[in-house]
Amino acid sequence: MPELPEVEVTRRSFAERIRGARVLSAAMGKPLRWPLGIEPGMLAGRTVREVGRRGKYLLLWMDEGVLLIHLGMSGSLNFSSQLPPLGAHDHFDLVTSAGTLRLHDPRRFGAVVWAESEHADPARKLLAGLGMEPLGEDFDAARFHAGLKLRRAPIKQVLLAGDVVVGVGNIYASEVLFLAGIRPTVRASRLSRIRTDRLHAAIREVLARAVERGGSTLRDFSNAFGETGHFQLEAAVYGRAAQPCGRCGTPIRLIRQGQRSTFFCPECQA
Ligand SMILES: [Zn+2]
Repeated sequence: MPELPEVEVTRRSFAERIRGARVLSAAMGKPLRWPLGIEPGMLAGRTVREVGRRGKYLLLWMDEGVLLIHLGMSGSLNFSSQLPPLGAHDHFDLVTSAGTLRLHDPRRFGAVVWAESEHADPARKLLAGLGMEPLGEDFDAARFHAGLKLRRAPIKQVLLAGDVVVGVGNIYASEVLFLAGIRPTVRASRLSRIRTDRLHAAIREVLARAVERGGSTLRDFSNAFGETGHFQLEAAVYGRAAQPCGRCGTPIRLIRQGQRSTFFCPECQA
């Protein structure tokens, strides 16, 4: 599943090139997770102003309205002036004066959705409840601590829920908690300011590094240049059950939290 770093890498791979381009036409393939909400032909004539991102949604700002794109479980975007005809798993084409943006999504959990603005439905609904952006300026250590104070669930699950901070998926959650020395089962509300500061720094560091490396975890992930990943998160704990911790040598432990695997070092994380 594309995580926030992959989505950000995708954004960076075509944002500059599509900026200022005029939409010539648009076409849908098979239905995606949600309907587009506008006749594809109605997109023609609009200009792409900018490509933003909120959580795992890419936002293509037009001179009128915004197109939200979500990659779902298996989606990838390709932006090129030379694309073959739509294949069986290509479900959206935005043909612009600078090239065609194409969504390839074999499992079709992805979505392309039109909204009049970020504050109009369905954009408002889809973006409501998203926590702070981990790579943005609003991800402030004091606000992070204040957000965690209100949550009594285990910190790992609070991170995954995404309503305090977005983008910390299952693999990243184990990794950042290891880096911060925090046991995944600790109640979020019980973490001291010093410990949440460490977690805050770890989240920024791990996600920024994943973006730098071109994404993270999925072998079949490709960016909008069609380049497939050389990126594999160098996991310190994730997927390393029973292997010695790189810091202290204690075997890494695997537990389940809310049906998801959690990996941690029982010695380094308290
Ligand atoms: Zn250890």
